[in-house]
Order: sequence, then C-alpha cells, then structure tokens
Amino acid sequence: MATAQRDYYEVLGVPRDADGKRIKDAFRELALKYHPDRNKSPDAGERFKEVAEAYAVLSDPKKRADYDARGFAGVAGFTPEDLFAGIDFGDIFGGAGLDADFGLGAGGLFERLFRPRRAGPARGRDLQVELALPLEAILRGGDETVRYTRPVACPRCAGSGAEPGTKPRRCATCDGTGRKTTARGERRGAASIRFQRITICPDCGGRGTIVEKPCRDCRGDGRVEREESLKVAIPAGAEEGLALRIPAHGLPSDDAGGPPGDLFVVVTSVPDPRFVRSGADLWRTESLGVADAVLGTQLRVPTLNGALEVTVPPGVQPGAVLRLRGKGLPRYGGRGRGDINLRIEVHVPERTTAEERELYERLRALARRGERERRRP
Ligand SMILES: [Zn+2]
Ligand SMILES: [Zn+2]
Repeated sequence: MATAQRDYYEVLGVPRDADGKRIKDAFRELALKYHPDRNKSPDAGERFKEVAEAYAVLSDPKKRADYDARGFAGVAGFTPEDLFAGIDFGDIFGGAGLDADFGLGAGGLFERLFRPRRAGPARGRDLQVELALPLEAILRGGDETVRYTRPVACPRCAGSGAEPGTKPRRCATCDGTGRKTTARGERRGAASIRFQRITICPDCGGRGTIVEKPCRDCRGDGRVEREESLKVAIPAGAEEGLALRIPAHGLPSDDAGGPPGDLFVVVTSVPDPRFVRSGADLWRTESLGVADAVLGTQLRVPTLNGALEVTVPPGVQPGAVLRLRGKGLPRYGGRGRGDINLRIEVHVPERTTAEERELYERLRALARRGERERRRP
C-alpha cells in the first residue's frame, strides 16, 4: 500500500472507548456519505473502503481486541471475506434503498472494491478455544493453562500419509496433476466446436498421488490431532468473551510453506451459583421473610474475598438493591472494581400456623385503625 493507513478510530471519528452503537452510527453516516453509487467524487470509493474496513474491525470484539493490542499487524492476515463475514449490511442500511449493493456475492460492492491483499501460500485457519474460568480467577488474573487439540503433520509419515518405507505413487489417471480433462467435439452447422471440461481427478481426489499403504497413525490423512497445552496470561477482570490472540498456534496451512493460523483464546466465566455477572458487577438475590423486611436484619453474604455481614435497614422494599461497593470484579480497561448488588426479594409465607394467623390479624387491625386515623380531618 502506497499511502499510510489511518487509525480505524480516527477514520470513524470515534474515541477509543466508543461502544458498539456509537461505532455503528458513525459507520452508517460515513458509509452513506461515501457510497460510490451516491458520491461521484473520485476518491469516494477509497474513502468508503476505508470506512467499511474500520467498521468491520471495530464492530467485531475479537478483531477489535487484536487491533487494540497490535494495531494493523493484529488484523493484517484477514482477507476481505474474513473481515466482512458476519456483518449484516442489510440491517445497517435498511431503509436507505442501498441494501442490494452491500452483498459479498459476485458483482456486489465489496467484490468490486476489494481484492485479496496477500499473494503466496494461504495462511492456515484460525482456531478458537474457550477458556471458562471461575470468578475468583477472573478477579486476580494471571497465568492459566489452556488445553486444546489441533491437527499437525503426522510425525510417523511426516505428513505424506504413506506408511514409512512406502511411498505414495503418482496417480496414473491424472499423471500427478490432480485434474482430469475431458474433451468432446460437437458440430454446429459447418463448424466443429471442441468443449473441454476440467474436473478434480476422481481417483486421487485432486492430490495427484495415491497412498497404497496408508500410515498406521493417521490412516493416510497425513495429519494427526495433537493435544496442546499453553500458558496464557489472563488480564485481571477480563471481560466476558475477551479474545486473546496467540499467533501461529492455529491450524496448519493447506499449502506447503504457508504460515499456520492463529489461536484465539476466548475468556468466559463459569456459571456461578452465587452470582450473575454483568460486566464488572455481580448480582445476587436475597430473599427475606416479611418480619425481616419490616424490622431490618443482618445478612451473611458471600463475596469473592470471603463472606461479609450486611445490614438490611428496616422497611426495605421488594426489588430494592443494596450495593456493596468495590466488591465486584476489576473494571476491564478501567479503574477500580465493580460492585456486588443484592436484589431484595420478600417471601410471603404460603401457609401460616394458627398463632401466626392471629398475629397477622392483629397487625391488619392495627394497620386499618392507623389508616382511618390518618384520614380523619
Ligand atoms: Zn501418518
Ligand atoms: Zn489423480
């Protein structure tokens, strides 16, 4: 690329901490402005491309994390198809009358604007593994071990698929090309036309070679699944779905000499019986009896650093929220910790004893008398 690439946030004119909605709004506005079918200035196409690429990266949490961490290097391996997969342009431009122009299909705007950026052997595919951690581990962050399997070249046959001591032989049907050409002639009036059809060789499946004695370990595949184990540094307070990129630990390339893909470790929190996570905040429901709600009480509440005594004030209402400040998770990309929020529920007894009923009757009589007295002029 001859010109320097502009920062994606700068392209969209949004701050680095902009949320999804702000990014989407900024993109919609700029994309409609520079849409080549609307804007006939000579550089509109280039501007539109720039805006679309910025949006494709910043609207995808995984790609955005990569870009934030490593800049353009973090997203350099993506083809336009990778970049724009998963974006529903119809949804974004719905109503603008431009929907049909935003397809990825043949002849669509993106095909017209983007051509694959890299030549040479294709990169292997990316691999994604989920790492589910207990809230305590997300609280402190630090090294965690990720275990996953990925295919690697079979060590027994060095990837050839042939049992050691034997060799794959060249496919006679296609003479090693992997392609089969069939030709037929047809007469059209006075002229004779020759049609040629090229298909994948049915005998070798396009590989050009045939394995007569398949390798015992990989059964002729040339690849085996290998268990990998990797230490990954988890940032304290890692937000739900945070993707950490580990370069070159993805799938091997299908092309000889092609670089492997990357591994994405997606951090999630294990469902916790005590709390529901909402960003850095933790939510929990506490159920009180009627008397405790009226008179107030003490609760023993779990936190991520041991249990805590909490005073519930008298007269607490159902649905009220008691906040334990700073007892939640560290704010990812921010300062301090979130809160633990206790949502108060009041449990009304379904059955009562005769004695309890008598007391409730007296309470009701007292309440009615009080109301009458308040209404009296
Ligand atoms: Zn093998
Ligand atoms: Zn063949």
